[in-house]
Amino acid sequence: MTPPPTGSTSRIGRSLPVTVRAAAKINLHLGVGAPREDGFHPLTTVYQAIGLCDDVTATRHGDADSDSGSDSGGGLRVVVGGSDWIDLDAVPTDERNLAHAAAIALGRLHGRELEGRLDIEKAIPVAGGLAGGSADAAAALVALDRAFDLDTSDDDLLRIAAELGSDVPFALIGGTALGTGRGELVESVADVGTWWWVLVPDRAGLSTPEVYRHFDKLFPDAPAQPPEADLLLGALRTGQAVSLARTLHNDLQEAAIDLRPELGGLISRGESEGALRGLVSGSGPTCVFLCESADHARDLAGALIRSGHDNVLVANGAVAGAHLVKDHA
Ligand code: ATP
Repeated sequence: MTPPPTGSTSRIGRSLPVTVRAAAKINLHLGVGAPREDGFHPLTTVYQAIGLCDDVTATRHGDADSDSGSDSGGGLRVVVGGSDWIDLDAVPTDERNLAHAAAIALGRLHGRELEGRLDIEKAIPVAGGLAGGSADAAAALVALDRAFDLDTSDDDLLRIAAELGSDVPFALIGGTALGTGRGELVESVADVGTWWWVLVPDRAGLSTPEVYRHFDKLFPDAPAQPPEADLLLGALRTGQAVSLARTLHNDLQEAAIDLRPELGGLISRGESEGALRGLVSGSGPTCVFLCESADHARDLAGALIRSGHDNVLVANGAVAGAHLVKDHA
């Protein structure tokens, strides 16, 4: 893996807040096979990290005490904030929060409880098929590792990430990567392009397990081996958006559209407004549209807003995995 840049400055005796940024992912290729014996679906997927990011700030006890007396009671407190169009009420603050779970898993590895506070500033829509919770878990791992001077190895970080969720290892490494297994086995792939995307999130999230269950119902004879991503990997090496558009693939799209028929209309609309290709992102409901350039993406976003979609975003990829943006020391 490319190691998350945690920096090298000594923090001994100065345990101040650390902020780490992690990106949303989209699946350029999502090939899904029949469920394995353990219930997980085998995947062949190509992830891309895009410039829509959550920030996670880890503060060790002692620093948190000086900011707010309410943090001095031990344990870990999770505080979630973010853009007003994000459904923050749907984000748990207890151990069900993937960032909180990351803190428990990292503490267990080092045989100690990580006491302090995690502030999650969300820009990634919740339950949007963009792996926002996984991004927060990856960011929390890197931020806590530095705030608590744990010096965790990359291998251990990747192992804990895979235990936390299938998309978390990718959120650590970022860029563009091939994911196999249930998505947790990741390796960076050659990608020479700068790709421009228009994103249309939905205010109401879609449950990933529900979409997989619907996939199983629609495709009871899915092959054990998921479809390979060779054509898409070739298109990434050309850097040509038109080539990439032809090879985008999502096996979950039909299930997501069956559960949310309006997504089909949205994809047609985006393509008729000039997108090279529209696609459901992962398990949805966010739809993504590939464009030729930044200008093209801005034009398409304007057209979609004029057609009645009030929340339309532009982002490019690939961007870095979880990385330090502020060390308050
Ligand atoms: P998945 O990663 O399961 O495919 P997703 O990418 O569609 O999901 P997420 O934003 O990761 O969507 O949220 C899925 C669910 O995870 C949410 O409904 C929420 O209950 C829970 N969750 C746990 N931690 C977080 C977090 N830090 N941010 C957002 N949701 C979280």
